[in-house]
Formats: sequence, structure tokens, C-alpha cells
Amino acid sequence: MHNQYSAQLAFIDEQRCIGCALCLKACPFDAILGTSQLMHSVIKSYCTGCKLCIQPCPVDCIEMRENPEYSEAIKADEYKQDRKDFASASKQRLQLRKLRLESRSQVVHAARQQSKASMADKLAELKRLQEKS
Ligand code: SF4
Ligand code: SF4
Repeated sequence: MHNQYSAQLAFIDEQRCIGCALCLKACPFDAILGTSQLMHSVIKSYCTGCKLCIQPCPVDCIEMRENPEYSEAIKADEYKQDRKDFASASKQRLQLRKLRLESRSQVVHAARQQSKASMADKLAELKRLQEKS
């Protein structure tokens, strides 16, 4: 897929990637694909060139490269709407990611609460049994 809007794009050296997923967590635009323990790669058409994935990588295998599809011409007025569309799609991904992370943390919190409650029930049951014997 094309990306004419970002002057630079992140590039992952997949041979060196150790699959730690830190870049994936750092990318606000969901532009990195991969799962834990497997190599990661950049979805070019989503990358805004923000560079936020560079610093977290423990093996320095991400670098910014010039985007061959980018041209200064894209700044011309005639492409104003296209630039707006790219910016708004990026913003949407950012918001969706935020929502996803929030709902994930709510699920984790609920699961922890449930597990605490179940542990408290078990301890109370154990205490009852001990008192009976
Ligand atoms: S440069 Fe920004 S948008 Fe591109 S992959 Fe890295 S964190 Fe994501
Ligand atoms: S931070 Fe670096 S090593 Fe970890 S998954 Fe991303 S590219 Fe691979």
C-alpha cells in the first residue's frame, strides 16, 4: 500500500528483530505488525514517521528511512484534501488504539477483582472448615 504523505518511514531489520513487541506498544498509530516472540514489521501506509518506535527497541534494529513515494509536491494545495484524509485516518487509528487499550485494562482489572473475590471466598471456606474440626 502507498504512503505519499510521510517524508520518512520506520524500517525494521527483521533479521535482527527479537520479537519483544516494545515497538508495537510504542507506536500510537498501529503501524507495526507482529506478535510476541515473532519478527515485527512496519505497515508502510500507516506510518506517520513520528519516530516513537525507535527508542524502545532494545537491539536498535529500527531506523528511519527516506520514503521513496514521498515528494514535496504533496504539499501543494491540490493535495490538501488527501493530506487531511491521511491525517484523519491516522487520528482514527490513534483513538481506536486508545479505546482498545482502555477496554483491555478494564477487562484485566475486572478479572483481578474476580480472582481476589474468589480467593477471599476460598479462605473464608477454609476458615469455616478449620473451626468445625
Ligand atoms: S515511526 Fe511512528 S508511526 Fe511509524 S512505525 Fe514508528 S511509531 Fe509507528
Ligand atoms: S522493539 Fe525492536 S526487537 Fe522488539 S519487536 Fe520491535 S523491532 Fe523487534
